[in-house]
Amino acid sequence: MARHVVVVGASLAGLRAVEALRRRGHEGSITLIGDEAHPPYDRPPLSKQVLCGAWAPERVPFRQKEGYDPLNVDVRTGVRATSLERFDNRVALSEGGPISFDGLVIATGAGPRTLPGASDLSGVFVLRTLDDALALKGALVPGARVVVVGAGFIGLEVASACRSLGLPVTAVELAEVPLSSTLGERMGRAIMSLHADHGVEFCTGVGVQELQGEGCVEAVLLSDGRTLAADVVVLGIGVRPNVGWLEGSGVEVEDGVVCDETCATSRPNVVAAGDVASFYNPRFGIRQRVEHWTNAGEMADAAVRRLLEGPEVEPYAPVPYFWSDQYDVKIQFAGHVQPGDDFLMLDGAPGERKLVAVYGREGRLTGAVTWNRPPKLIALRRAIGQGGLLSDVKEA
Ligand code: FAD
Ligand code: NAP
Repeated sequence: MARHVVVVGASLAGLRAVEALRRRGHEGSITLIGDEAHPPYDRPPLSKQVLCGAWAPERVPFRQKEGYDPLNVDVRTGVRATSLERFDNRVALSEGGPISFDGLVIATGAGPRTLPGASDLSGVFVLRTLDDALALKGALVPGARVVVVGAGFIGLEVASACRSLGLPVTAVELAEVPLSSTLGERMGRAIMSLHADHGVEFCTGVGVQELQGEGCVEAVLLSDGRTLAADVVVLGIGVRPNVGWLEGSGVEVEDGVVCDETCATSRPNVVAAGDVASFYNPRFGIRQRVEHWTNAGEMADAAVRRLLEGPEVEPYAPVPYFWSDQYDVKIQFAGHVQPGDDFLMLDGAPGERKLVAVYGREGRLTGAVTWNRPPKLIALRRAIGQGGLLSDVKEA
């Protein structure tokens, strides 16, 4: 069993790795290194409850009741891992000397992509951290005209929060139909209608040519020549895995840290979990990087098992899952859907704000989506995991 385990990245996957180490009987020392000033906190409320003012920011830290003493972990916040030595088990840090490890968990997540010129203008925001959320919230004053660039998860959740504050919102999206690459075109169109019903304007199938303004943002020039007046611009155009510190370390990186089906990287005693990890998922026969909350926790547990038990552990073969709260709808999805998969509405309809739908290929379930039907989604996620048939759920 590894004696000193270092976990780099003090957010969801990093914290869950520490908890799993103790739960699974690791008695050696643990150091948790995170470059944010805050101890680990939960991100989903940032684009929802925190932004619309329903929650004070003090609610988002994890382990408020239990604290960190029961984990017997050395938590170092505000400290960045700057490199991993190639031939030694040592991580260099932005503060203090390098730290040696017997086992290493890479949990450095991902950071937002941005647009040229964005950092020169006030009023342009990304949303990844608590500090980002507080800065954006401060700009959402009455009358502010909001443009979200990217109608993915950030863009649509921010749109929902801003509409609840009564602010005008326009969403700009490269794809013709938002979220269609994840949920298919029919569900993407249904989500677009949900937003249109709440007053969001859409410019789809178009990119951004330029962010315009003198000191602060005033307008967004689209690639088709249209101009959108803006006081606040939120960039939700995807993320890049935080892997810069691993350059030259011998840990293979390609769109994230490359892991096998047991969360092992190309270096012995080094595992990865969460948004940063690109892993082989034997359930679907694909390599994937899952950028959602549930995977961060489940994969951290699997990565710790690999560290403690070695290569013979059961493969990590999840049915990826996410939820997204938009207006009064809890959208939930499980599975892995590809273009051309069948889509079948089993119950309800977007207009009712309640629905259950499934996806399939060659008769087999590949995914499920629900609106405001959590128990159904749990059952369908299980069915996908068991290799369920479309015909079974049609009849159920
Ligand atoms: P991260 O949370 O990105 O954490 C990585 C940590 O490592 C960060 O603190 C980072 O600063 C730190 N770090 C990076 N590099 C270094 C370094 N070199 N040294 C030290 N520290 C470093 N998912 C859902 O399923 N449903 C939701 O509703 C949902 N809502 C979300 C809302 C928002 C606003 C965001 C941003 C994400 C949301 N997600 C949601 C996604 C979910 O939060 C992420 O999948 C999850 O946070 C991933 O956890 P992680 O620990 O892998 O990475
Ligand atoms: P995302 O979900 O990947 O969506 C980015 C969107 O922006 C895509 O639709 C993309 O279109 C579009 N886009 C890219 N470049 C663009 C441009 N120049 N102009 C206009 N549109 C552009 O990423 P995100 O919304 O930024 O979210 C960031 C991260 O937070 C993700 O990891 C996400 O999973 C996570 N998050 C998750 C949740 C949740 O699960 N509920 C909530 C919030 C955040 P193409 O696909 O066509 O490139």
